[in-house]
Amino acid sequence: MTDTRLPYKRRLTKQRKLILSILKKENSPPNVEQIYKKAKKILHNISLATIYRNLNFLVKIGLIKKLNLQKQENRYDVQGKIHDYFICNICKNIYNILKYPLEDKHIKKFGNYDIGGFNLEYFGICPKCQNKKPCLKK
Ligand SMILES: [Zn+2]
Repeated sequence: MTDTRLPYKRRLTKQRKLILSILKKENSPPNVEQIYKKAKKILHNISLATIYRNLNFLVKIGLIKKLNLQKQENRYDVQGKIHDYFICNICKNIYNILKYPLEDKHIKKFGNYDIGGFNLEYFGICPKCQNKKPCLKK
């Protein structure tokens, strides 16, 4: 799997490496604005346009994925991370949670589809919102 990606490694510029390292550290898949703020702390001259351009590039070569969860703004995550997503109904935050332990061999039996992977989205109330007083809930 990594072999096909090797030629692109040479094209991993300083900016792209930074974006990847930011995404790897996150516990919740960030949006463009959040990535930009973090990147700017390290590369002070980086522009929002550069972030967009590099995110698109990284999506295109398959190193990261663009998430379109619950009609929220686009968020980004590195490919191959082993987790599912939990979306809080109250604060709308997205959390990475442990992947549902379903083995690939079970999924591949579904009909005639050759399934390469799957993502689950969970919904509910996050620990932070559970601890809020009811009157504070939106
Ligand atoms: Zn919440």
